Amino acid sequence: MTTIVCQKCQQKAAIRMRQHRLALCSEHFLEWFVDQTQRFIEKYHMFAPTDRVLVAVSGGKDSLALWDVLWRLGYQADGLYIHLGIDSETHYSQESERMCRQFAGERNLHLQVVSVEQSYGATIPHLAWKSRRGRGRPCAVCGLSKRHILNQAAREGGYDVLVTAHNLDDEVAVLFGNTMSWQVDQLNRQSPVLEGSEDGFVRKAKPFCRFYERETAAYTLLRGIEYIEEECPFSVGSKQLAYKDLLNRLEEEHPGMKLSFYVNFLNAKRQGVFTPGAGEAAAIELKPCPVCGSPTTNDGPCAFCKTVQAEKREA
Ligand code: SF4
Ligand code: ZN
Ligand code: ZN
Repeated sequence: MTTIVCQKCQQKAAIRMRQHRLALCSEHFLEWFVDQTQRFIEKYHMFAPTDRVLVAVSGGKDSLALWDVLWRLGYQADGLYIHLGIDSETHYSQESERMCRQFAGERNLHLQVVSVEQSYGATIPHLAWKSRRGRGRPCAVCGLSKRHILNQAAREGGYDVLVTAHNLDDEVAVLFGNTMSWQVDQLNRQSPVLEGSEDGFVRKAKPFCRFYERETAAYTLLRGIEYIEEECPFSVGSKQLAYKDLLNRLEEEHPGMKLSFYVNFLNAKRQGVFTPGAGEAAAIELKPCPVCGSPTTNDGPCAFCKTVQAEKREA
């Protein structure tokens, strides 16, 4: 059996990336990974070295890898962890918070922790249970709450950009789902960077959007970063996981398929394929939520505040 060698130094390779026709040893992979992140930050105009960056961290491999890379690149990056109150046999929320605190402590980085229960009176599973959106599976309420809390924390903290660690596998699974149902508005919004607005939405960026999950996993492992290995117990059986599975099988047969699906989508978007027609392009008017001040299309409280109010009413 032939040994695969690093294309830079001819030592034994630690990873082979068929989609890039590239094999690297651990040292050169770590170097390549950091350089590539910087390249994507610049290519998609995500943020500048002077910007204050807020990193959404969950305690998982991707978000801690992202914070680590931004720290090594010298960005002013603080972390925000949201304690969702998801208890399980493995104490999912408790353990993931511990991982984030440990990571930040080891590097002397600033971590902000928001407990959903302490701030809004109920955990995510409870909020979901009381809401029409969340009966059965709390993911819709969880997603809504995370988006709300992250944007609010970034806005109130005066950050220039909010970054999340979505990787290519996440992005293509979402893209696949949105394409299957032709969610044109969602397809229009899916992007490595989403500009902020005067109304109170902070700019959002995804510096890992072109890395395969196995690449972020390799980075975390080779850097010796401790992270929570368990997935959230509510992720079991989700459509997102089913799409990932399907796309992985296609990738196996056609290396590079996921990357070209995503990159070709971004090219098509740039060419205006998903631009709404004149009749559909009516501007959406945003108003501040009377409860929390976040921008919303609702006349009354925003969707998140309504969910919290429903919980309090029925409590
Ligand atoms: Fe939230 Fe867990 Fe669902 Fe993810 S899988 S959205 S963390 S409840
Ligand atoms: Zn090498
Ligand atoms: Zn609100």
